[in-house]
Amino acid sequence: NILTNHLPTAELQRIDAAHHMHPFTGGAELAAKGTRVITRADGVMLTDSDGHEILDMMAGLWCVNIGYGRDELADAASRQMRELPYYNTFFQTSHVPVIALSQKLAELAPEPFNNTFFAASGSEANDTNIRLVRQYWAALGKPSKKVIISRTNAYHGSSMGSGSLGGMAHMHAQGGLPIENIVHIDQPHWWAEGAEMSPEEFGLLRARQLEQEIDALGEENVAAFIAEPIQGAGGVIIPPETYWPEIQRICDAREILLIADEVILGFGRTGKWFGSEYYGIRPDIMTIAKGLSSGYAPIGGSLVSDHVAEVIGRSDFNHGYTYSGHPVSCAVALENLRIIEEENLLGHVNDHAAPALAKAIESFADHPLIGEARSLGMLGALQFTPDKSRRVPFKAPKGTIGQIAREACFRNNIVMRHVGDRMIVSPPLILTEEHCEIFKERAGKALGETY
Ligand code: PLP
Repeated sequence: NILTNHLPTAELQRIDAAHHMHPFTGGAELAAKGTRVITRADGVMLTDSDGHEILDMMAGLWCVNIGYGRDELADAASRQMRELPYYNTFFQTSHVPVIALSQKLAELAPEPFNNTFFAASGSEANDTNIRLVRQYWAALGKPSKKVIISRTNAYHGSSMGSGSLGGMAHMHAQGGLPIENIVHIDQPHWWAEGAEMSPEEFGLLRARQLEQEIDALGEENVAAFIAEPIQGAGGVIIPPETYWPEIQRICDAREILLIADEVILGFGRTGKWFGSEYYGIRPDIMTIAKGLSSGYAPIGGSLVSDHVAEVIGRSDFNHGYTYSGHPVSCAVALENLRIIEEENLLGHVNDHAAPALAKAIESFADHPLIGEARSLGMLGALQFTPDKSRRVPFKAPKGTIGQIAREACFRNNIVMRHVGDRMIVSPPLILTEEHCEIFKERAGKALGETY
């Protein structure tokens, strides 16, 4: 049995390249270089099919917030699978795990977030949001309010809808995206795009593009603005301090909804339950996924504020997924939230993990290749530059230095992710100072092999 007594690595790689179509990976790359086959994990460490112990500074894909190997979640899944593996939540049916989880989310989320529409992923949840906000305005007698404003280089998922909300040029280049009535304003990436401006001036400038875009489109045509409070997959772009207060001012002044995509930040990554709380933002809808179950089971959702839920509740919202509120995922999520609360993981992030990560990231600031070493909470980025005296990104050929660095990380048994010309981290929240020492040593070696 390949699962219990697996084949040699080369054979696994051959079968993988022959039969498994990977997300965001070229087939030629797979055939030439193979994949690293991960077989086990515990805490912050992965083990591959050759027995290497690898430090996972990405928490899988920004999701394993409580770390790997928690039997309590496996037990919760097993119990739920035996009791009720599946039932739907359509047509006036429900089940205990989804009822308990929606109550728990209402308790954890700030007021007025007392309602969740479940999905199986962040992409699905953002697709829900597109339909939710349009339905909201239609139900209020304003059906022309359809346009959703998003940002360049945002990531909101990979479906046709969520990929359109995203502002990733390479995804749009594949055709069909963005779908109608989605427009993008510029991201607030001061380091790369702020020229001679101060971060504060630049933050205001980029935020005010929202107001200009609403005016250009006509407020009567705009449904919502969506943004990640900190862009994750775009390269851990931490906005200038002036950015979010100005966005909130504009949203308050204009009749549009604000959607905060909390798929990465939700459940502790900034040291708060939600990134919106960190920035003092008052959205109308929050997208959640990833950290909700720490990736142990697929689940996502839209946390909906009372005033939106009330309008949607009065209308016919013809939308839903087979796995909306999947009982096993809900049971796993509940157990995950219990652990985050009872083990005070937010306290650990604020008092220990985030300061240790910040120190480790800062230790690379003087490296000749690093233009900016930035972090916030449990997110960090090392921005490469060919010239430390100026804020210039590595331009051509795009992404090459990141790829070289990623392969060097691979050889040094550390997972960091490369996004264009920067390396990013988003480790489990249980990170300790000891892990940070391993991070500094292995990332340091990898950087040494990068140029
Ligand atoms: N939104 C954000 C901010 C994300 O980072 C992601 C995934 O990385 C998504 C949405 C999409 O989530 P999923 O991959 O679960 O569909």
